[in-house]
Amino acid sequence: MTADDGHGVAVQVAACGKTFADGTRALEPASLSIARGETLVLLGPSGCGKTTMLRIIAGLESPDAGGRVLFDGADVSAVPIEKRNVGMVFQSYALFPNMTVADNIGYGLKIRGVAKAERAARIAELVALTNIAGLEHRRIDQLSGGQRQRVALARAVAIRPAVLLLDEPLTALDAALRERLRGELDRLLRSLGITTIYVTHDQAEAMALGDRIVVMSKGAIAQVGTPREIYFRPATRFVAEFVGAANIIEAEIADGALRLPGGHWRIADSVSRSRAVAMIRPETIRIAATEAATLRGVVDSVSFVGDRQRVVVSGATARPLAIDAPNALPIRGGDRVGLVADPEAIRLLPEHL
Ligand code: ATP
Repeated sequence: MTADDGHGVAVQVAACGKTFADGTRALEPASLSIARGETLVLLGPSGCGKTTMLRIIAGLESPDAGGRVLFDGADVSAVPIEKRNVGMVFQSYALFPNMTVADNIGYGLKIRGVAKAERAARIAELVALTNIAGLEHRRIDQLSGGQRQRVALARAVAIRPAVLLLDEPLTALDAALRERLRGELDRLLRSLGITTIYVTHDQAEAMALGDRIVVMSKGAIAQVGTPREIYFRPATRFVAEFVGAANIIEAEIADGALRLPGGHWRIADSVSRSRAVAMIRPETIRIAATEAATLRGVVDSVSFVGDRQRVVVSGATARPLAIDAPNALPIRGGDRVGLVADPEAIRLLPEHL
């Protein structure tokens, strides 16, 4: 069960559910396969069972009867956490406050009996990789939040774990730092090629870091897919609304198009249903001249949101439609507009009316 020099193991979660002693059903039996070197993100709202899933993989929690965890095909269900060779980082860093940065990073190596010279070499390598050069001899309580988080990461990967488990590691940081560290973390995980399971409730973080995302809701897996699949082809309304802004449109379908109060929009799917719930992302709708579109409406409001403007149009669909338009588009409340959508961007959801 040793790490294949930084490439980690393939992880399989087979029918793992969890009911706690007090009867709380935190996780319905769920199965997942995580490829060697893959970054898999568990994404979902608070209480959906993400942490429970992570703790089962770590060996901190045992699954209900019948559930198994396999590393490279070997059943590790009965293997305790300290023998699973996992690296973990939590929202609270759990670093040793009185120890130096270097000693914190080298801690796991020391207790594993790694010789001093090799320890020093590995610490130096990780200090460089995590951008904390110059801080090696500081104590943890003399560092900023972002620096602490980098040390926690360096410490977790120092042992060359088979699997790296991260539970909301950036949540405690402010927005700007979170975004910067997200980029650094992405580069770090890619350069290490380590199998990583990352828990977050932040959809932007999930999209940026995940090779694949597992969206969870109420203790069950709602969808597994690449960030693009999850975003553009959500399996359910819950997924559609959780991972970004979504217009949910209830409409009749006839002749391959959604029939709407302000006209129609062609759809790509051929369906036998006569009514459907459809989803379209605000940035995939284009505002055009009324004569250039099959769907029309009136602008309710325009708000400048920095990199674009958010336009709300009513009359086109039963409920107002949100559209993201480039700032350069001259538009005002009260304008009559045409609305163009690529049929591929309209996703029919399984919900029935
Ligand atoms: P968050 O983002 O808030 O951490 P989460 O998705 O990680 O949420 P979990 O921590 O996995 O959710 O918890 C799932 C459910 O299990 C919650 O309802 C939680 O209250 C419950 N739970 C977690 N640990 C225990 C426990 N030891 N005993 C009883 N219930 C628990």
